[in-house]
Amino acid sequence: MNNRLKRFLRYNDYLFYKAHSRVFEESNSLICLLFHTLFTDETESRLRSRYPQSKLQLDDLCFIIEFYLDHGFNFTSPDGIISGLDPEKNHVLLTFDDGYYCNSLTLPILKHYNVPATFFISADNVENGKAFWWDIIYRERVSQNVSEAEIYRECVAVKKMPPVQIDTYITETFGENAFQPQGDLDRPFTPQELKSFSSEPLVSLGNHCRNHTILTKMGRLEIMREIGSAQDFLAGINNEKPGIIAYPYGDFNDQVIQAACDCGLKLGMTVEPGKNHIPLDICSRSALSLKRYIPQVGMDMRIQCELFQSDYSLYNTIRGLYHHFCSDR
Ligand SMILES: [Zn+2]
Repeated sequence: MNNRLKRFLRYNDYLFYKAHSRVFEESNSLICLLFHTLFTDETESRLRSRYPQSKLQLDDLCFIIEFYLDHGFNFTSPDGIISGLDPEKNHVLLTFDDGYYCNSLTLPILKHYNVPATFFISADNVENGKAFWWDIIYRERVSQNVSEAEIYRECVAVKKMPPVQIDTYITETFGENAFQPQGDLDRPFTPQELKSFSSEPLVSLGNHCRNHTILTKMGRLEIMREIGSAQDFLAGINNEKPGIIAYPYGDFNDQVIQAACDCGLKLGMTVEPGKNHIPLDICSRSALSLKRYIPQVGMDMRIQCELFQSDYSLYNTIRGLYHHFCSDR
């Protein structure tokens, strides 16, 4: 879906939301928001040292938190969801995927507003200090003056490979040392840093699999190994296995949900946009396929925050269908 069509659909949704919310009250819900990394400022976002999954900055996170606090939302955690959300309230879950060290920059913000957040960890990257393959491709191709469109196409192709093949592709294409991170902007947490970070009361850890791979391309036993191995790694970090998983790339199906359930997980995060209606039936298919919004640059953040509360969205419907039938998975 191109950006102009996205913007058109979302502004269309916004007009509908404004008209609808004047007459009807939107239903209470759980809104889950997905971030990867946040830049500290404009200068840092221009360094091009990691794949720009988003160019959001820490200030955008502050804006979002303030917006929902001002509108009476409760910021929750996986434990809060599992023990049951108050159906009389609206709730928000902040999530950060992958395990980037720079996510530790959010901690002063979480403390300032006293809101929790959940961090989904790609176990192999943290355990072995490996840079994320998409960042390696991005930084190497940028240095070769390859266009953003070509880099994107290469990443889409690599994403479909099994983990071992991705590692081989990266080292054969960019050299034996390619997995060495360049600095604090692109590196994962070390296990020790993650231990210290996760001991903070406002921080929860979640499973993001061992090798950040597309689970829907695997057999049941392989899926169980991917999820189970990450559970064991995270238990070694903070002495408890998480109850929540974010499926890498948001890819899931019934077999993945069953495997997650068999590994003891109660909640699962996708990247399908939408609000989650409460009360939630924990361990059910809906609890293991929760929708998440990804805040974007290029559209007024206040409008996005308002839209995330909407019960109806043409954009979400079309994006969901697109993801289901047409995406390059
Ligand atoms: Zn991820």
